[in-house]
Amino acid sequence: MSDETWPDIREAVRKLCANFPGAYWREHDRARSYPAEFVRALGEAGYLSILIPEEYGGAGLPLSAATAVLEEIHRSGGNGAACHAQMYTMGTLLKHGSAEQKARYLPRIARGDLRLQAFGVTEPGAGTDTTRIATFARREGNRYLVSGQKIWISRAEHSDLMILLCRTTRREDAAKPGEGLSVLLVDMRQAAKQGLTIRPIRTMLNHATTELFFDEVPVPAENLIGEEGKGFRYILDGMNAERILIASECIGDGRFFIDRASAYAASREVFGRAIGANQGVQFPIARAHVQLAAAALMVQQAAALFAAGKPCGSEANMAKLLASEASWFAADTCLQIHGGFGFAEEYDIERKFRETRLYQVAPISTNLILSHVATHVLGLPKSF
Ligand SMILES: Cc1cc2nc3c(=O)[nH]c(=O)nc-3n(C[C@H](O)[C@H](O)[C@H](O)COP(=O)(O)OP(=O)(O)OC[C@H]3O[C@@H](n4cnc5c(N)ncnc54)[C@H](O)[C@@H]3O)c2cc1C
Repeated sequence: MSDETWPDIREAVRKLCANFPGAYWREHDRARSYPAEFVRALGEAGYLSILIPEEYGGAGLPLSAATAVLEEIHRSGGNGAACHAQMYTMGTLLKHGSAEQKARYLPRIARGDLRLQAFGVTEPGAGTDTTRIATFARREGNRYLVSGQKIWISRAEHSDLMILLCRTTRREDAAKPGEGLSVLLVDMRQAAKQGLTIRPIRTMLNHATTELFFDEVPVPAENLIGEEGKGFRYILDGMNAERILIASECIGDGRFFIDRASAYAASREVFGRAIGANQGVQFPIARAHVQLAAAALMVQQAAALFAAGKPCGSEANMAKLLASEASWFAADTCLQIHGGFGFAEEYDIERKFRETRLYQVAPISTNLILSHVATHVLGLPKSF
């Protein structure tokens, strides 16, 4: 069972989260404001640098430790989306950055002096078809000039740095669609003064997401990560980590819903007995638990493969699909079992219900995962 992993970390994260109860998250949810106090506490306790190697000032733990942190945050009723990106964006810098880049940024990220919370991939004109992104970085001397548009870039207003995927060769001029894409580390404070406009998007959940407009934004050439034109591969690596971490948030959400549903079903009396004494109420909770337990094993397997440096694309995708569906079933069950009270803000069910729905769309939608499994795992003909 996943809750047997990293027990000390889980216990400490639970204690930290107890200082940020439902009322805290509800207030930020209502105002659509950033839970800065929570992010600060998490950073100060060292959890945001848990994956950064010790030589750069982090804890140097494997991905499964980060999944434990995020799962516990979500099980407590909180939301790691305010800060989870650092855990997977950092990997792009760690795996593909130069020794100089790593020495310059990672210790400051580990100390919390720099926030690497923004990951700029999605564009309105490309959708999931990432190789069609059009944001272009034109090389001019020792800098790039970036122009284009991104959408759904979360935490852009709360990050000092962004991992940006852009084109350095147009798709039509590249040897293959996946070539000619590059990764730049963008200093958001500088960029905001030099042609980057950030516009918040109000959504059904509190997610600090934005759209970005780049108008000839200069980025020093030394901020190129890895080789020019090879960025798509670097980003895919990070996406596997992202999917595994998001899956662990779904597991946490699912456990939150099951905890709440079980407690409510045991205590709410209707027709002279606990509603939980009825099998029509028990069975969906039990089913949610079974589905979640299976999904948690898949998350663990994907995390173990990732940590071992083995291919894990299919497992990361399958973990995300199973976990997001399990958390959504648990959410629906929990809401139903609470009857009218499930809709009341003060129970936190409706907020978590909105939050956990996201995961079937982002960071990758269910259909695209099924398509990956069908064609890459099962060898079925490609549909696109
Ligand atoms: C709150 C939020 C936060 C986000 N944060 C970030 C972020 O920080 N950085 C970032 O880069 N992106 C971010 N995203 C973007 C997210 O990754 C995308 O929304 C997601 O990958 C889906 O892409 P899309 O919205 O372009 O959908 P589309 O690609 O337009 O797809 C729309 C629907 O059509 C389906 N579909 C598309 N093609 C096919 C096909 N061939 N076969 C079957 N079905 C298909 C999809 O499954 C989906 O359901 C965020 C999104 C949201 C909503």
